[in-house]
Amino acid sequence: MKAIGIVGFKKSGKTTLALKVARALTAKNYRVAVIKHSGKPVPQKLSDTDKFFREVGKVAFITPESTKIMLSEQWDLNQIASLLSADFLIIEGFKSLKYFPKVYCLKDEKEKALLEDGLGLFTASTDPSLKEKGIADYAINEEKDLVEMVAQIEEKGFFLPEVNCAKCGYESCYGLAQAIVKDEESAQKCTYAQKYISVKINGKAVYLNLFMTKLYQSLILGMLTPLKNIDSIDGAVIEIKVDMAGFPNKQNS
Ligand code: SF4
Repeated sequence: MKAIGIVGFKKSGKTTLALKVARALTAKNYRVAVIKHSGKPVPQKLSDTDKFFREVGKVAFITPESTKIMLSEQWDLNQIASLLSADFLIIEGFKSLKYFPKVYCLKDEKEKALLEDGLGLFTASTDPSLKEKGIADYAINEEKDLVEMVAQIEEKGFFLPEVNCAKCGYESCYGLAQAIVKDEESAQKCTYAQKYISVKINGKAVYLNLFMTKLYQSLILGMLTPLKNIDSIDGAVIEIKVDMAGFPNKQNS
């Protein structure tokens, strides 16, 4: 999974840009998910769902078109990202997190220095004069600029697991993230998940984040350890051949 953070101060065009990028990536056939940070509580309108939420703090509201889940606890991005099961994650807000690249949305020149953390791919603004003055790289509402921004996001998006294990040679995921943004390293340098389990489909490695790694581990242990004729699964290579024609709900992916 790839990711891009869209950060900035209030009214800096973050949501406008996030929506445009989400639309453009969806048009390129990515499964896109958005995670938005807010300092404010979720508005409560006292619908039936909200009444249940106030009572127990965990509610799922399911209709034929959509599913809404409300939890009275904060999940980390890795947990949520796995639940959303997307190819591309757009993260709006979360300025302080440092394991994915970012777009800095600006209202003026001084905000650039305040946002700078070595993870910025480029700057953008809803005010076209900032681009004319050379303060922002792109104007958010110019179609040509949007095409260029999306191409950069597509090429350079990444998401590290924020485990800070130092296996990549950097003390923290932030160190590797900065090096990736500078084009000195690639996200494949993060071997944390692959150290424990790796998955290939038709020979092509599949990136697993921390949550998915743990999920696969539990599934494999649960399925294989009860089998009597297996000594050890440590270091094992397990082959699974899939014939979707035999499944009741045929899918291509
Ligand atoms: S190997 Fe991955 S999880 Fe470990 S510090 Fe490097 S980037 Fe972070």
